[in-house]
This record gives sequence, C-alpha cells and structure tokens, in this order.
Amino acid sequence: MRLSRYPISTLKEVPADAEVISHRLMLRAGMIRRLAAGLYSWLPMGLRALKKVEHIIREEMDRAGALELCMPTIQPAELWKESTRWNKYGPELLRFKDRHEREFAYGPTHEEVITDIARRELRSYRQLPVNFYQIQTKFRDEIRPRFGVMRAREFLMKDAYSFHVDEASLNQGYLAMYDAYVRIFTRMGLKFRAVQADGGSIGGNVSQEFHVLADSGEDAIAFSDGDSYAANLELAATAPASPRPAASRALERVSTPNVRSIDDLCAFLKVNAAQCVKTLLVDGSNNDVVALIIRGDHELNAVKSQKLPGVANPLRMASADRVRAATGADAGSLGPIGFAGKVYADHAAAAVADFICGANEREVHYTGANWGRDLPDVISVDMRNAIEGDPSPGGSGSLQIARGIEVGHIFQLGQLYSAAMQATVLDEQSKAVTMYMGCYGIGVTRVVAAAIEQNNDANGIIWPEAIAPFRIVLVPLAYQKSALVKEVADRLYEEFSAAGIDVLLDDRDARPGVKFADSELLGIPHRIVIGERGLGTGQLEYRHRRDSAATEIPVASAVDHVLQNSNR
Ligand code: ATP
Ligand code: MG
Repeated sequence: MRLSRYPISTLKEVPADAEVISHRLMLRAGMIRRLAAGLYSWLPMGLRALKKVEHIIREEMDRAGALELCMPTIQPAELWKESTRWNKYGPELLRFKDRHEREFAYGPTHEEVITDIARRELRSYRQLPVNFYQIQTKFRDEIRPRFGVMRAREFLMKDAYSFHVDEASLNQGYLAMYDAYVRIFTRMGLKFRAVQADGGSIGGNVSQEFHVLADSGEDAIAFSDGDSYAANLELAATAPASPRPAASRALERVSTPNVRSIDDLCAFLKVNAAQCVKTLLVDGSNNDVVALIIRGDHELNAVKSQKLPGVANPLRMASADRVRAATGADAGSLGPIGFAGKVYADHAAAAVADFICGANEREVHYTGANWGRDLPDVISVDMRNAIEGDPSPGGSGSLQIARGIEVGHIFQLGQLYSAAMQATVLDEQSKAVTMYMGCYGIGVTRVVAAAIEQNNDANGIIWPEAIAPFRIVLVPLAYQKSALVKEVADRLYEEFSAAGIDVLLDDRDARPGVKFADSELLGIPHRIVIGERGLGTGQLEYRHRRDSAATEIPVASAVDHVLQNSNR
C-alpha cells in the first residue's frame, strides 16, 4: 500500500477514554474507530492485522482436521429454551422479537445452533468424530465494555465444536485442539500460558484457558515453579492449612475507636493481619444470609465460594439492610461470634487460634477468639484466592502469580447440550447414544489487542511479524523532489511485493520526522530509509523495530536482508 492513498491519519494525542495501552495505540494508529459503547469499526490498517490472525487460526484449524462452516448470528429462542439457557443466561444475552413477535437472540456463542445441526445431520458413529468451526461475529451485552476491542460487545470469535461417540474420543479431540492452540499462539509470536479454568456460563467439567501474558491483563493466573500446575486464580486450589494450635488466650472484648478496616485494626492492636479474620455476609440460596470468614491477609474467591452449598450463585454481598437484620451491625464491624446463620471459614481462617474479629458492634472487637470454644467449630473450605508462595496443588514447588489476557478457552462439555437437545447417533450395535461434545473458542479481535498489550514501547506498537499489518515500511526522503530516490523506492516496492512481503511505501509529502514517528507508532517490524546521500554509495538505512540503531545495507540485498532478519 502507498500511504499517500491512505486517507486515515494517525493521532498524536491520546484519546481520553482509552485506559489501556493497546486501546490507545489502536486508536492512534488508525486501526479501529468507536461507533458506540463496545462497538468498533475496523479500519483498513487494523483489518490487515485481524486478517492475519484469522488466517493463522484457519490454517491450524484446517490442519487439525476441523471443518469450517458458518452459522447465523441471530438465533431462535426455542433452541435456547431447549438447552435451558434462555432463562439462565443473564442480560448479556441480547433478546428481541421479529415482526411476527417471535423471540430471538443475537448469538453470544453457538452451542445450541451447532447441536441442532449435529442432531439433524449426524446419524451414525461412523460419521464421528467430527469438529466444525466458524469465524463469526458474536454479541454479548457486557455490563462494562472497556479496553476497546479487548472487552467489546460485538466481537469476532473462532468457535469450534467437536462431536464424539464416547468420552475417550472426546479426550483425544480435546487434546488435538490444545495442540492446535499451542501452534496458533506460537505462530503468532505471543508469550502465552494454558491454565485450568472454570466453565462459566458455557459449562462442562474439564476446561483450559489460553492467556497472553501482559501486566495489564484482567485475569490473574497462578502457576507452579516446581511442577506443571497452572490455573486461573479463580480456580487455583489452596491446600488445607496445618492443624490449628491450641487456644492460649482468653476471649476479650476490646474497644477499637475509629477502626474501620483490617489495616486500621492491625495498626491499633499492633498485630499481623494473619491473626485477624474478616467476616463477609453474602446472600444465601434460601433467602437467608451466609457468613464467609477469611483470614485478614487473604481475599475471598467469588468463583469458589458461589459453588458452596447454600450460597447464592452468582455470589452477591448481602444488602446493608439484610446485614443489619442478621447481626444488628454494619458491614465494617462483623464477626462470627453469635451469628445464627450458616458459617463457612476458609481453611486458613479455620486454622487460626486466638484470632481477632469484629463483635457485631461498632468499634468493638474480640481478641483471643477460638473456634469450638467461643463459637461453634466451623466448616472449613477452600474459598480464598491463592497467593504467591502458596504450595503448588500439583505437589512440588510454590505458586507464582502473573497477569494474563484470556484469548482462548477450550472445554469438554460432555453431554451437557447433547442430552438436553437429544443429539444422538447409532452406535455399532445400532443403539442410540447421546453424543459427547467439546467446544473451543478464540477471541479473534481480542488477540490483536492482546498482541499489542504485550508488544509496545513509548513510541508505539511492536508487531510480532506474523500478524503485522505490513512487514516492512519503505521511507523515502524527498520522494517528491529526488528522481533517484523515487526510482529506487518504487523499484524496492515492486521487489518486496514480488517476494510476497507485505510492504508499505510512505510516499507522502511529509517531513522525515513525521514519517519516522508514524512508522514506529504503526509498529511495522522492518524499516528501510531511502535517502539521496546513502544512494550515492549504493546504501540504504535499515532498522528493525526492536533495534535501537540503524545499519547500512546495500540496495541490492534489501529483500534478502529483510528475509534474514524476519520473525525476531
Ligand atoms: P471473559 O472471561 O473474558 O469474559 P468468557 O470466558 O466469557 O471471556 P468464552 O465464552 O470462553 O469467554 O469465549 C471465548 C473467547 O472469546 C474468550 O476466550 C475471549 O478471548 C473472547 N471473548 C469473550 N468475551 C469477549 C468480549 N466481550 N470481547 C472480546 N472478546 C471476548
Ligand atoms: Mg472463558
């Protein structure tokens, strides 16, 4: 492409509403434009990167034997009622009626539609296993769309669905997709990690997420430094603590003026947060409230605690009115002593002797509290977030925590959808068997943002070469004035094009400083500057986007030089 014919300019100023670097850079580089909350247009520069991501995904899905198809984005409510998700899926599901008053949804995912196809088309175990995929637009009415295309409402997903006659075959199909995902993200030049994950609203038992590692990632992931254990923090298990020591102090009520938080409490009593417990009241599933007790230095894990019997799912903090009705106190002063409802303590909180807790009275605490003596013994469960240094659930080493952006998610669904929707085939004995299913997603548009989030510097994007909108930018100086510069620039443009290397020619009548700044903002991996002075001795100036300095290369070897320096 010739930049002189590209009408969209780069932006110097940082758009005010863009919080993360990838969002800022995608706007500044003219890759995307916002239409409304969570809705983005992909401009030509952005679409080129997106298409490269799509291309790699398509190639690897095809290589793994998956078959591409395309399903409608609009889906009839009947299918969602059959799977029972019509009522379970919250307001993220955009529902509407057509002119005949029939109910529809804009698909946030396609399990129902593909299961309907499978039950109509697949008759015999001989047709299995099979894996269908599409690269298709999804809509999720996200409560807080943000970070540009990273958490949009309309986005592009690669979704694949596999069908199997038994669990062993599902296992094999799942592993094949795992391998395909490793190849996909490796080819894209991204640093990533696969971690055990929660099934969320899709469901299923076995699932793993693929995360691009980046400090700005919304997810925390825990991985062991001593074994292969890796899990989303939502799921990362914490082990039961060592046995509780014997009580050694008497229970005492102490006045704690102006103490509102654990930090205040520790400062006032000169104790460590690990000696205190926090009490959180959440809605129970029987219109009651449940007390969740966590050690003062730990955080409650919502995904684990909402699975506890008697706790409402999704987890909701009890309202101030309910808290007062249940304890007579406000949220800042709660404690388990005297609480009449159901109580769960995290393993670590259940293992503290002589602990400090709220007394259900403003600015009063108990010290020297002991389970089984001052209050009933407690059900000890795993419901806190793992922290750095916790022993690895895998058995050796300890946990490290990193931030990640979820770009892919693979699930073993088992018979969740096929049973609800009666998707069966005949087995070898001509007996109808319910198929086993797997499903496998990649956030195609999110991958582009995640790649930028991981690869940038103060001057702009640094594309991994495999997904760069262009691999090389030619920057002629005085293209409009020097016949020699123009001739060499045009010739190189043809040479790179002929070699199948996507090349951008900055033939604008602009100052060199502007061209250099744009080439860095756009993040094109290779840059060649063509100037009259260098051409005098047959030289060009080459610089890789990751290098800090330029080198001279002979005009004749430009294409070879770029090829030799590729994919760094
Ligand atoms: P998240 O936890 O980020 O909300 P999810 O678990 O709901 O994602 P899946 O149902 O597993 O997402 O969808 C498959 C993939 O689609 C995700 O791994 C992610 O990369 C992408 N994705 C999901 N929601 C969005 C969104 N709002 N915007 C862009 N990509 C998304
Ligand atoms: Mg997910």
